[in-house]
Amino acid sequence: MILIPILGDQLSLDNPAFRGLDPQQVVLLMAEVTQESTHVWSTRMRSAVFLSAMRHFVIELRAVGWTVDYRQLGEHSFVSLYDYWRAAIRQYAPTKIRVCEAGDMRVHAMLADLCDASNLPLEVLDDDHFLISRADFARWAGKGKQLRMEMFYRSMRKQHNILMQGAEPEGGQWNYDAENRESFGKNGPQGISSHNPFPADAITLQVIADLQQVLPDQPGAAEAFCWPVNRQQGLQALDHFIKHKLSRFGPTQDAMWTDQPFLFHSLLSVALNLKMINPREVIAAACRQYENGAADLASVEGFVRQILGWREFMRGVYYLDMPHMKTANHFNYQRALPKWYWNGETQMNCMRQAIGQTLQYGYAHHIQRLMITGNFALLAGIAPAQVCDWYLAVYVDAIEWVELPNTAGMALNANGGRFTTKPYIASGSYVKRMSNYCKGCAYDPALKVGDKACPMTTLYWDFLDRHRDEMKANPRAMLMMKNYERLNADELAALRLKAAHTLSNLDQL
Ligand code: FAD
Ligand code: SF4
Repeated sequence: MILIPILGDQLSLDNPAFRGLDPQQVVLLMAEVTQESTHVWSTRMRSAVFLSAMRHFVIELRAVGWTVDYRQLGEHSFVSLYDYWRAAIRQYAPTKIRVCEAGDMRVHAMLADLCDASNLPLEVLDDDHFLISRADFARWAGKGKQLRMEMFYRSMRKQHNILMQGAEPEGGQWNYDAENRESFGKNGPQGISSHNPFPADAITLQVIADLQQVLPDQPGAAEAFCWPVNRQQGLQALDHFIKHKLSRFGPTQDAMWTDQPFLFHSLLSVALNLKMINPREVIAAACRQYENGAADLASVEGFVRQILGWREFMRGVYYLDMPHMKTANHFNYQRALPKWYWNGETQMNCMRQAIGQTLQYGYAHHIQRLMITGNFALLAGIAPAQVCDWYLAVYVDAIEWVELPNTAGMALNANGGRFTTKPYIASGSYVKRMSNYCKGCAYDPALKVGDKACPMTTLYWDFLDRHRDEMKANPRAMLMMKNYERLNADELAALRLKAAHTLSNLDQL
């Protein structure tokens, strides 16, 4: 008898842990335990997505003949996966535990400790959902002097022959980023459908009711449930994106707009990260649109880079740099996360928009996460661990392998820029250029001092001032520092005063 724990983000019938095994000799273990929603204080939407997708998956597993020991929230007394697995080992007396590698090293450590304590062999299988294994990524990283996504991405394009013409990139360029930074212009985004393709079904409604019963104080809400919860819906989401949004994804992928949470983004991260769909089929579908002339190269390349490049790269660096990545604090920032990160109640319209939709849908797009909530947390000197816990708690696609490198590494520069060329910081002018948020705001993005000064702008200049030596030494920050050096002594004194006041009143912004 082999016991196989199936984790909440391993919802594929092609899971390597049980691929090719005889169902008679295997029991699959799945449990909904409160600790997975409380170790970071998960939002209702995040928990609902995971639990609903698990309940849908167990039906699929049983339909094809697997025996699953499934424990539903509220119907058992196990607080943690550890407790549940320990009881299962006592009940089934297995000869070994077999598992596909976990996307959160905390969970892997829990299982490894238990097997150790129970004297049971633990077999860990590579997660071949990803296009590169951890070992191959480590080999690639070992060769390069610098860890840069662009170089990694090019090697993946070549290795997998994706958007290539022989040895050259399709179209003669590796990267169409320069064409992909448009805003929406005065009239805003056009032609966005408000149709919700995946409202809560009976299983999801029951999950939400169970969560309300067992964890009544979770932040956020799940009334606006809109996420795929099984493979069929994941494929539907992919088809919808490819047919209706991909051709418009590229140019405006960085743009934001008031009360438009989804824009032309794919919304595929949930289906991908829970393994309901495979990145190979997503990339192939996007490339087919280009080959058929239905989407241009800039959009398709821009999209493929996110999946084949950033997604695989982030997973690689997570395993390479853990456990240090989790505690890294390059700037030694210690401030507490402002309270309004948990309710969106701030006068800063950009933050109200990004946090508001996060609590309502469990979603914000990349630039909202990087240049709004992430940028502010970096400029305000919030302790990285608090920020990372928040990101892990609030997004429906959040699993540590992808959340942590994006937050600690990319947004907060907490690892000292190990895989970025400079800190991602911006003032209110960037927000004004890329959105219409500033129009509905109590603050003025052009002002760094005074009553109406935009906190993003004040803290941006203060960040350059605080870290002037480090920033001056970075050739990629030259332009920013040239502008900073134009400030005269009086302007600097006023800026420092305003920034000190802003930083001591973060909760009141
Ligand atoms: P699209 O914009 O349509 O992009 C397509 C796909 O590309 C995504 O579904 C995703 O699978 C992949 N992708 C794009 N950018 C990245 C990236 N930087 N890293 C990894 N994959 C990427 N993504 C997560 O999946 N989970 C997280 O917990 C997460 N946390 C983040 C935290 C911060 C601070 C930042 C800056 C980014 C984070 N991201 C995370 C990356 C990115 O924001 C999301 O993948 C994306 O917003 C998901 O929406 P979408 O499916 O509509 O993506
Ligand atoms: Fe955000 Fe500043 Fe613009 Fe207000 S003025 S929306 S705080 S960037």
